Amino acid sequence: KKVADRYLKREVLGEGTYGVVYKAIDTKTGQVVAIKKIRLGKQKEGVNFTALREIKLLKELKDPNIIELIDAFPHKGNLHLVFEFMETDLEAVIRDRNIVLSPADIKSYIQMTLKGLSICHKKWVLHRDMKPNNLLIGPAGQLKLADFGLARIFGSPDRRFTHQVFARWYRAPELLFGAKQYGPGVDVWAAACIFAELLLRRPFLQGNSDIDQLGKIFAAFGTPKASQWSDMVYLPDYVEYQHVPGQTLRTLFPMASDDCLDLLGKMFMYDPKARISAQQALEHRYFSSIPPPTEPALLRRPP
Ligand code: ADP
Repeated sequence: KKVADRYLKREVLGEGTYGVVYKAIDTKTGQVVAIKKIRLGKQKEGVNFTALREIKLLKELKDPNIIELIDAFPHKGNLHLVFEFMETDLEAVIRDRNIVLSPADIKSYIQMTLKGLSICHKKWVLHRDMKPNNLLIGPAGQLKLADFGLARIFGSPDRRFTHQVFARWYRAPELLFGAKQYGPGVDVWAAACIFAELLLRRPFLQGNSDIDQLGKIFAAFGTPKASQWSDMVYLPDYVEYQHVPGQTLRTLFPMASDDCLDLLGKMFMYDPKARISAQQALEHRYFSSIPPPTEPALLRRPP
């Protein structure tokens, strides 16, 4: 049975934040696609209009490191977003114990992540929900950011769904302090958490509540001082924490190179104004020092 007279439905791929995702064939091009069916819920009509306008912007976001939004259409009260189909994601790579991640491989993955981020940030689009399973990996090894801009269009993902709790581990401190106005720094923080996860082969800061998440951050880096982050005290959920000392990045990541730790430290700056941007991060010497990043086609993928 064809959807919108064009897509042949195949199996369900999974249940995502916004609704069910299924595989389909685009009969117009023969391309395999993933269709995300988004429940529009109560405010159907209202969301529809703004959503479709914003989605038009996402369709124009074309880059080798961003998943392509091929088509978007309403169908039976749901919004359908058609994306290029991707075989696997970075979470599967990190979890696969048979895959060795060399320093050059890690550099390649984080470079592709930052390239995708910098393009979106240049167009003032934030991701807001970066995590390893949103970094999809294509057949030629290219990493592509998925779900860009969706958090802004459809509201922040519903945290009641259990599969969503993991997103907490990638949340920037300003979000955990309830910041209502935030910028591209939230994505850079998340990218830093993913960078750390590539180095450690396990999630770096695994909080089991928002408060605990802040606790995990403070235990790693020390409670932020007013001299490091002066605007912190104005955030809605800011409370004074008992001072705890941090650890050095060298202790946390004993295997990483000095260049790697220097960049990681700049991505993990507490003050979002002081945090390095995705573009500046790409210009960091970590990416020009040896070893060069592995060619995407040479990166190993899970079977
Ligand atoms: P979440 O909201 O939890 O990140 P998603 O909505 O992104 O989940 O996706 C749900 C499921 O669909 C996941 O199993 C994911 O791997 C799969 N999926 C999403 N997008 C694609 C895609 N472009 N190609 C292949 N599989 C996809």
